Amino acid sequence: MRIGIVGLGLIGGSIGLDLCRAGYDVVGVSQRATTCDQAMAMKAVTTASTDLSTLRNTQVIFLCTPIGRIEPTVRQLLPHLRADTILTDVGSVKASIVAAITPLWPNFVGGHPMAGTAESGIQAALYDLFVGNPYVLTPIASTPPASVQVIEGLVAALRGKLLCCDPAAHDRAVAWISHLPVMTSASLIAACLGETDPAVLTLAQTLASSGFRDTSRVGGGNPELGVMMAQYNQAALLTALSQYRQQLDQLIDRIATDDWDALHTLLHQTQTARPAFLSSEPQELGL
Ligand code: NAP
Repeated sequence: MRIGIVGLGLIGGSIGLDLCRAGYDVVGVSQRATTCDQAMAMKAVTTASTDLSTLRNTQVIFLCTPIGRIEPTVRQLLPHLRADTILTDVGSVKASIVAAITPLWPNFVGGHPMAGTAESGIQAALYDLFVGNPYVLTPIASTPPASVQVIEGLVAALRGKLLCCDPAAHDRAVAWISHLPVMTSASLIAACLGETDPAVLTLAQTLASSGFRDTSRVGGGNPELGVMMAQYNQAALLTALSQYRQQLDQLIDRIATDDWDALHTLLHQTQTARPAFLSSEPQELGL
């Protein structure tokens, strides 16, 4: 099968590495010629160029540009697409993308691999990035079932854990477990920088170990991606952030009033609740 990938960065490059290794013919398109050269040298693509017309004979095209470039890219692609080409994207929000792309190209399957690193660009692409991680598809009533099946087959080739859900439900869910953590983790780093004594700040930076590494990781990632999450999932993210602020106020109150029993109860609840977020099995959610 001939696969196209537009946007050869962390996600597009990683999809290309796995699909090339699995024997697919992969045609890449990226913005910069140097990126295309690097992708070919890494064997993330069979061929690559900056010209969207090279995707004219592909059966499936993965749209892996930044979120804000997905719709303009599809508009530019339209004159070059074969009638039976399936488009799929990897954008971290789904409702606005599905609503924008489906009228342009009904043979579109929204997708979101829940995998990443703090790095970006083709040099950050990795083999096996998706292995064992959720890969969400968000077909709607008009999405051709046969196209969903084709994309499911490619998710299987990437060895992702397939899940299907409604685009709006996806956006609300990722606001809690992906977009809120990016913002709170960024706030954590920013709050630490509020230490007024330079010697104490340096000491804190020296002492920071695995706990800080875990909690600051997603706040120290690609700023463009964080801005896009906020811009394209604004309502759900604001709901999550407001709830988080209430939780912080409650924590401050319990600590300020020496209410250690109440603090213990809360921390016991969170200790009990955490595993359910980390061990869910792939399933048809029917949302
Ligand atoms: P990235 O590493 O910055 O890669 C995006 C690449 O797209 C850039 O390297 C750029 O390549 C290329 N590009 C930009 N505009 C383009 C255009 N108009 N036409 C063709 N290529 C273009 O970003 P990423 O992390 O892979 O994210 C890509 C998508 O994956 C986003 O939609 C994001 O929401 C989604 N996603 C990201 C993560 C994550 O954790 N990073 C996880 C899941 C999904 P050049 O070098 O050619 O400029």
